[in-house]
Amino acid sequence: MKRFGAALLLFCCLAGCAPRQEAAHTVDFFAMDTFMTVTAYGAAAEQVAVACEQQVDALEPALSRTRTDSDLYRLNHAAGAVCTVHEDTYAAIEAAVQYAALTDGAFDPTMAALTDLWGIGTEAAHVPPQAAIDAARAQVDYHDIELLGDRQVRLHDGAQLDLGGIGKGYATDKVAPLAADGALLAQLGGNIGAFGVNPGREGGDWVIGIADPDDHASFIATVAVRDRSVVTSGDYERFFEQDGVRYHHIFDPATGYPAQTGLRSVTVIDPCSTRADALTTALFVMGLEEGLAFCAAQDVAAVFITADGQVVTSDAVETACAFTFLGADKGYRYVA
Ligand code: ADP
Ligand code: MG
Repeated sequence: MKRFGAALLLFCCLAGCAPRQEAAHTVDFFAMDTFMTVTAYGAAAEQVAVACEQQVDALEPALSRTRTDSDLYRLNHAAGAVCTVHEDTYAAIEAAVQYAALTDGAFDPTMAALTDLWGIGTEAAHVPPQAAIDAARAQVDYHDIELLGDRQVRLHDGAQLDLGGIGKGYATDKVAPLAADGALLAQLGGNIGAFGVNPGREGGDWVIGIADPDDHASFIATVAVRDRSVVTSGDYERFFEQDGVRYHHIFDPATGYPAQTGLRSVTVIDPCSTRADALTTALFVMGLEEGLAFCAAQDVAAVFITADGQVVTSDAVETACAFTFLGADKGYRYVA
């Protein structure tokens, strides 16, 4: 149900960008456990949109860890043996390790033991006993990934990979070149890629809404971008509540619990969707203060929405997009 909200959000984006002259073709599909919508414009619109769907479908076995026929499943169950994996699996793991190092482990792709234990987004979601959390947390350490080159990987000390925090970003980067010279708006769950010139808007930018965490159908801000990815991670996508506490799907590797840093969502605007995807997850774990310092040091364009009603932009937002704050009548305060 929550994920359906993302589809509605896209519909709003598209409605605001209706093409004036060029042919457009939209495909809606379900992949990577989420709703996706791709609209291509131009003479080859239909072929491009269909090719995007095929590209995402083709990536699924390379990035899924739950499909028993996937490379990640095989790697996670190899008991420390060297595995040769698909080139996309290898490239995504390589990128994930790079962002784990960059964020000092706030983003950590060896999250599978914790993800499985909590079961967030499944019928089995529950608060596990502390001893089980401690045991799962001990399995989380990206240093236990050994990349041997030539598509060969080995996992040490019981580490298990979960590329859920980067997979849709990786997929967005793979569909981007399919736009060729045409325009393309791809929404893969919370990952949006806006490529080429928007034929429906003067100036050619794409206006992407940043959702109100309490009402996905409305926006707290918009960003106008071109050839950028806009990625949001929030505590409202997958969660359950118990005793008044919200347990969501972004884990703090340091505690083994869903990150409680006073944030509702983080949006990153970046030319590279893989980077944006990894960094939204990491910034959510870091929290506002540490996150802003990270953005300043690494030149990251990010929009933070806090639980106490602030909307905060990092310095790089000014150059990455045209940002418009819309949250005043909902009680939000904008802090530039
Ligand atoms: P979404 O999948 O909703 O787009 P994210 O990109 O933030 O959201 O990814 C969340 C997913 O990433 C979780 O469902 C889990 O599979 C994985 N994950 C959770 N916490 C972390 C973390 N700290 N580092 C890396 N991956 C994580
Ligand atoms: Mg992410």
